[in-house]
Amino acid sequence: MEGDQTVVCSLLTVDLNDYCYRVCTRCDRVLPGDNNGVFSSSSSFCTFCNSKQPKLLYRILMSIATDTSVKTVVCFDRAATVLFGCSADEFFHFTKLNPLAASMVNQVLDGEMFRMTLNRPRNGNAQHMRVTSVVPLRSGFQPAIVTLTQLCTKNASLGTPTHSS
Ligand SMILES: [Zn+2]
Repeated sequence: MEGDQTVVCSLLTVDLNDYCYRVCTRCDRVLPGDNNGVFSSSSSFCTFCNSKQPKLLYRILMSIATDTSVKTVVCFDRAATVLFGCSADEFFHFTKLNPLAASMVNQVLDGEMFRMTLNRPRNGNAQHMRVTSVVPLRSGFQPAIVTLTQLCTKNASLGTPTHSS
């Protein structure tokens, strides 16, 4: 398909300031987010179908380095799940229990090599190429949530206070 390209790249940074958005599970409409990426219960109500069953989906900006250039790409739910190893809802919950986890994602994924398929959206307003598939190239690759869980468990055993229930 025209516009698709497959690149081998290393991951430089993942922007986790605004890494997910919320949709209604019943009608799939995007629900308005609150400021600062904080989701309160008041905005989880779908005004179209009256459902109160929202879910989070990933939408992550990340910089990658290919052998020729550095570029910023946007990674949606299916591809991001490969990197994180869990749903956006699970990751959001995990970062609530482990507030440092989001800032540790970059340490965990930094420099990992991937083969990514990039697609240039037809929408001329879209700024960034989107990642349509991600294949980790390192044989020992672990999704971020696996490594983060190990790190946070180790911290807990060293006496760092945690808020796990
Ligand atoms: Zn709805």
